Amino acid sequence: MSTTATKKPTRPANAKHAGKFRKGGPMKKKVCRFCSDKIEIDYKNVSLLRTFVTEGGKILSGNVTGTCAKHQRELCQAIKRARMLALLPFAAN
Ligand SMILES: [Zn+2]
Repeated sequence: MSTTATKKPTRPANAKHAGKFRKGGPMKKKVCRFCSDKIEIDYKNVSLLRTFVTEGGKILSGNVTGTCAKHQRELCQAIKRARMLALLPFAAN
């Protein structure tokens, strides 16, 4: 008869509690503008797209703008399309 081996996971005794801790000011709750306002992403809507790119023409990440992943992808496509049509500047190197 074989006995069931009981292995206990070894934990470091002095493991610090690694929680998500942010220092700094109050966190603004970001919400996807396209979801909340039901805005459709259109590459012709340059004034809207401009709010999601830097002055240099870089696309701001969803972390910065609060745009959800789904809309971030669509936004990225729209910005790239707008660039091709010279409606938006390309990212400056
Ligand atoms: Zn969204």
